[in-house]
Amino acid sequence: MFIKSFKLNKKFVIITASILLIIILSVVLFYSFADNEENSADKDYIKWVDFNVTCEAMKLTSKLDIESHNTDADVKYNWIELLAYLAAQNGGNFKNFKKADLDYLVSRLNNGETMGDLTCDMKFYDYYYEAYSAVLSGFIGNYSIDMEERYGLKAFLPIAKNYSFSHYDDFGNSRSYGFKRVHLGNDLMGSIGTPIIAVESGIIEHLGWNQYGGWRIGIRSYDGKRYYYYAHLRKNHPYAEGLEEGMTVKAGDVIGYLGMTGYSTKENVNNINVPHLHFGMQLIFDESQIDSPNEIWIDVYQIIEFLMQNRSAVYMSNTETKDYSRKYDFIEDFEGRSLISVCFFM
Ligand SMILES: [Zn+2]
Repeated sequence: MFIKSFKLNKKFVIITASILLIIILSVVLFYSFADNEENSADKDYIKWVDFNVTCEAMKLTSKLDIESHNTDADVKYNWIELLAYLAAQNGGNFKNFKKADLDYLVSRLNNGETMGDLTCDMKFYDYYYEAYSAVLSGFIGNYSIDMEERYGLKAFLPIAKNYSFSHYDDFGNSRSYGFKRVHLGNDLMGSIGTPIIAVESGIIEHLGWNQYGGWRIGIRSYDGKRYYYYAHLRKNHPYAEGLEEGMTVKAGDVIGYLGMTGYSTKENVNNINVPHLHFGMQLIFDESQIDSPNEIWIDVYQIIEFLMQNRSAVYMSNTETKDYSRKYDFIEDFEGRSLISVCFFM
């Protein structure tokens, strides 16, 4: 009798212990999963940017920034701060941008108020400042060209000087090759062979064939925030000589030639109807945003319009290969922080 009940108890204990173990494991698993989900969702980085700043607003604010730094003006303006302030006022919609709003902001700064004073109660100022810094922080700064030091616009139009092109705001238009999707860039229609220019300095992250972009080149800015995508380059001779993944390029360098390659899994095929450069800009606030459904591509149409004022002059530097190079060398002052990034990426 005693032996029997002990046997029963033993069985009972084992079953109870197993059930308890399963419950504990389920609870632990559930919480660790929930925690991970929460962590990735709560990770503090920008998840979306609609870039609606107009060319006019960029022109006016950049002029204030550049002129104040090139004169002994008491108040130095920062164009990204000015744009972020206006965006925080208009909800990021520059359609109804009024120069008077900018003039009023400038008058307040001239009267001794600081951006800190003016924006401390603005709920979305920090968001716009960070978002617009990601887009524009490589565009204005110190550089020297042809041995002359300057402070100004140092980003270039992706089409070389004296080569014509046309474009319209085609961001978000539908595309059907491969799968139904939207157009995440701006198409610049021009002649085959037009030298393509690096908009900003950076590191070549991708170079080679991709079934959508054809011969394409992807360049990451030194701060890691911008990925410039140049696609449909020329059949047979897509790239400027000597370029490879991992190499650095300078803003204004010739990186390739306009063409009509792409829309094919087979390499070096011209399947695009109209020769053009597809130019795109992706913003990266966290590395998890790369190659994911959470990629942020912005509308660059207004940026192309803005960059019309800065075009890189080129010449045929190799008559055998018919390669082109920039006419004027360019040295950029990365102000320390970016130089560290260079080391990090290398
Ligand atoms: Zn395109």
